[in-house]
Amino acid sequence: MIEIEEARRLILERVLALPSETVDLRAALGRVLAEDVLAIDDVPGFENSAMDGFAVRAADTRGARRDSPVTLRVVDESRAGHPASTSLKSGEAIAISTGAVIPAGADAVVRVEQTTPGEGAVEICREVGPGRDVRFAGEDIEKGQTVLGSGARLGPAELGVLASAGRPSVACTRRPRVWVLTTGDELIEPAEPLRAGAVRNSNAYAISALVEQAGAEVIGVATVRDDPERTTEAIARALEADVVAICGGVSVGVHDHVRGALSALDVEEVFWRIALKPGKPAWFGRRRAGGQPDAEREPGGQRGTLVFGLPGNPVSAMVTFTLLVRPALLALSGEPPAPRRTTARLERAYEKSPGRAHAVRCRLKLGEDGWHATPAEHQGSHVSTSMLGADALAIIPTESGTVHAGEQVEIELLPYG
Ligand code: AMP
Ligand code: MG
Repeated sequence: MIEIEEARRLILERVLALPSETVDLRAALGRVLAEDVLAIDDVPGFENSAMDGFAVRAADTRGARRDSPVTLRVVDESRAGHPASTSLKSGEAIAISTGAVIPAGADAVVRVEQTTPGEGAVEICREVGPGRDVRFAGEDIEKGQTVLGSGARLGPAELGVLASAGRPSVACTRRPRVWVLTTGDELIEPAEPLRAGAVRNSNAYAISALVEQAGAEVIGVATVRDDPERTTEAIARALEADVVAICGGVSVGVHDHVRGALSALDVEEVFWRIALKPGKPAWFGRRRAGGQPDAEREPGGQRGTLVFGLPGNPVSAMVTFTLLVRPALLALSGEPPAPRRTTARLERAYEKSPGRAHAVRCRLKLGEDGWHATPAEHQGSHVSTSMLGADALAIIPTESGTVHAGEQVEIELLPYG
């Protein structure tokens, strides 16, 4: 059995980012940039007003107060999208809207609230200094600046910045394509009535959802009976994907055929069994494409399929997916996978003996002294409802025994949103 950290390392050293493709900004939410994006213009592109009011020469407002205003002649207007056609001279003001171009000759804006309108003129009731309520060109983004780097995951703010930077489309890493296989004679679909010994196939739904939440694409889902030939056939078909996630049938039972099928299909085993509860039988391997050695694989070239055998119990499947498969999907997408770890105080004692690390489903609460983690009542790997509302996995290390209430534990935040 290997430690979870070692397992992650063995996986990540076999992952290269997928090739890139051009993606329209409207379709790019959740995608990962495969280029550094430079701004083609300054943002804002010109000096503009931060307020509705009057563009003036700051020197003209000297000494202006509510009880002794300065009167300036209003000679033009600068509206958003419609700059003034005249330039400003001493003794003059130009009405201006938020975001409109500061007219030539002006160096400050007096807010409308600090003025009194007059006949072709305006009374300025407040002295302003040069630059007051003026936004400078390039204040947000400078032309030529790298606004976002390769590897950035595109959320709403990123899409807005890319639009500002003048990019209608960007290069993104192709989404990983994933096949989800569930195994077991007992499995039935949610719509089927329960017959003796049947189990509704929850993994097909939970694992597919985890794939999509990791930004990858489910290209196939199928259920396979516990039969060696059928298992081999189904996996052979699934190997067209970048990643195959197989649930169940990976343990030591006489009806577990997944490892035999993988071996028959030349999928090279990298590890089997990790020192983790839940998740011990997890399997990882790779089928090399074209049999090239690692050194000859180029980013964007042929690379082979990563294959994960996940334990069938619903909690084990979700936990091992999150700790092992998700980092691989992020790395394939070009995003450096960084587990979101922090520490929390355990609210209740957690009984354990040394030998395996435990991933304990917890709810988090923020206290005055930081995060507090309350373990789910029933930690059985078959208790799917223990995942409901889980915010984090407390990772209790292999060598640790029972953890007492109030002790600090390491937690990994669950990315289930
Ligand atoms: P296995 O890993 O195949 O030995 O399965 C372990 C346990 O998980 C058994 O109780 C299975 O019935 C259950 N199981 C396996 N696959 C699924 C699935 N897709 N959905 C729900 N339960 C499953
Ligand atoms: Mg099974």
